[in-house]
Amino acid sequence: MSRTPLLAANWKMHKTVGEALEFLDALLPALPAEGPEVVLCPAYTALAPVVARCVETPVRVAAQNMHQAESGAFTGEVSAAMLLDLGVEDVILGHSERRALFAESDEALAEKLPTALEAGLEPILCVGEDEAQRDADQTAEVLTRQIEADLAAVEPEHLDRIVIAYEPIWAIGTGRTATPEQAQEAVALIRERVATRDAGAAERVRILYGGSVKPANAAELLAQPDVDGALVGGASLEAADFAAIVAAAAR
Ligand code: PEP
Repeated sequence: MSRTPLLAANWKMHKTVGEALEFLDALLPALPAEGPEVVLCPAYTALAPVVARCVETPVRVAAQNMHQAESGAFTGEVSAAMLLDLGVEDVILGHSERRALFAESDEALAEKLPTALEAGLEPILCVGEDEAQRDADQTAEVLTRQIEADLAAVEPEHLDRIVIAYEPIWAIGTGRTATPEQAQEAVALIRERVATRDAGAAERVRILYGGSVKPANAAELLAQPDVDGALVGGASLEAADFAAIVAAAAR
């Protein structure tokens, strides 16, 4: 089964509108004409201008989070409809920083995933273990628990519309990357967990690796048979670095 690689740039709380547009001026001419899908995830404030700049380019734009409710008294939150209104097509859900710093729960994610899908957004669901869990040999258990809980309310026929990012927390923003073998093992396990819901969807679903991906290590991570792309934080802030990671997936 050939799955189109996907490279997503998670800018977190970086880049003003001006900085985002400057980045695009450098990135767009550097992207290969054909090949991997590219998704940029700016802060909410830069979504609309980045969408406008990416019209008629192959680049899609994602938000870094959304609320599960249609509307209501949720100060500081945005809904799926608000993202669609801007032309946003994808949304990161369950990033470990949201889970750790903003109390994002598996219960909320179990509502957010079907809400995003019903609205027509492509969710990028992040899962991953922390260092203590890896050291205690609990990686498989943690990933299984997250996948089962977060995808519980997604109909089996919609599972392949989700992108899953395996992001070991100990590798995020630390410069410590999972070895290609560790990434492959965890991503294959996630695919197996999806297969317990729907074997066909598990073959089609794209599973990314994220955690200190850089131009120097991208090729060997992306060469793993179950790794279908990368979610990139720090190295996505420089257009040349992110373009080099996209090029590594295009090979
Ligand atoms: C991320 O935040 O999703 C991430 C993978 O960050 P970094 O590439 O900086 O580790």
